[in-house]
Amino acid sequence: MSDETSTENLNVLTSTQSVVKEALSKLGYGSEMYDLLREPLRMLTVRFPVRMDDGTVKVFTGYRAQHNDAVGPTKGGIRFHPDVTEDEVKALSLWMSIKCGIANLPYGGGKGGVICDPREMSFREQERLARGYVRAISQVVGPSKDIPAPDVMTNSQVMAWMMDEYSQIREFDSPGFITGKPIVLGGSQGRDTSTARGVAICIREAAKVRGIDLTGSRVVVQGFGNAGSYLAKFMHDAGAKVIGISDAYGALHDDKGLDIDSLLERRDSFGTVTKLFKNTISNKELLELDCDILVPAAIENQITLDNANEIKAKIIVEAANGPTTMEATRILSDRGILLVPDVLGNSGGVIVSYFEWVQNNQGYYWSEQLVMERLEELMVQSFEMVYNTATARKIDMRLAAYMVGIRRMAEAIELRGWV
Ligand code: GLU
Repeated sequence: MSDETSTENLNVLTSTQSVVKEALSKLGYGSEMYDLLREPLRMLTVRFPVRMDDGTVKVFTGYRAQHNDAVGPTKGGIRFHPDVTEDEVKALSLWMSIKCGIANLPYGGGKGGVICDPREMSFREQERLARGYVRAISQVVGPSKDIPAPDVMTNSQVMAWMMDEYSQIREFDSPGFITGKPIVLGGSQGRDTSTARGVAICIREAAKVRGIDLTGSRVVVQGFGNAGSYLAKFMHDAGAKVIGISDAYGALHDDKGLDIDSLLERRDSFGTVTKLFKNTISNKELLELDCDILVPAAIENQITLDNANEIKAKIIVEAANGPTTMEATRILSDRGILLVPDVLGNSGGVIVSYFEWVQNNQGYYWSEQLVMERLEELMVQSFEMVYNTATARKIDMRLAAYMVGIRRMAEAIELRGWV
């Protein structure tokens, strides 16, 4: 480990707080506003038992953070991952607040997580885990209180179990309790591909301002889960060359372009595919490949002081939450690389979640075309607002995104008389 690495802040909560502080101060807010917004208003820790297939009982720990509800109910996904921590869930809830603020959605941020490894659990064990978690948090969530959704290693099936459990507890059908559901249970057309669609729109807009032609451009995608795999497909279909993809176990590289359709067919439900191949490279090598566009779509802290100087991409669009540290953001921006931050880049997911919730509340369902049109409109509007703020103030797009995203929440807090 280099000296530089040891001085780098890899705690996603404290590093996020430093950007929130800077954004609030640039907007003219004082220390009281920062004090209110630096942590979630509510943070619930739960421990709950799950009966495993072999008859034993395992106790799992989970969290639900509600960052701020001045604008509206809190909103954000639930992740199942062995590395979930309290600070990570708090940071993720803060990012959701900023994300919803940029897209102008009537929500504050929320987030949940359970420390577990679903890859090591059977289908029925995952169901009992999902239901147990919902029973444990049921008092603090609800369609006009806090609305969960999928995140890392949770999907529409997990949302279906969670919706069913919640509806049984409340004794009425509650599709608006959770988004990212299967269509037949009140899900929205286009929700499954929405995060990737939003990333693709950001790539298109970023390429436009940088004068890069996407046809034939070289794209690298780190992560082959919901966001990464669909994105690789969209870029491939749009005429770009996807020269690298990866999963948690390794990466695949071919300068002539990978056969994305066949990889999509062969991946498992967690996006694992590289185990089927012998000639793999490491995730570190993948990130440093010579390419035009790099999309980190896996987990946090992937681009750090260790590799920020080795990145060759001209544009980075963050599909994962928190893949680049704040120190690395500075280096990339000094090097002239255009970095579209997570709170903008991956906001297509929560935007279509919002559409899903609106449809549930109205009991009236939209066509896929209508969902896509409205997603396009909100994404382009969000991109322009953040890009123009960054250009006008000569700041990087992350700080600009935080300024755009936090402004409305701060205003709502003042109007309610909290600060
Ligand atoms: N988990 C996704 C995110 O981080 C989606 C959240 C949602 O749809 O509420 O943005």
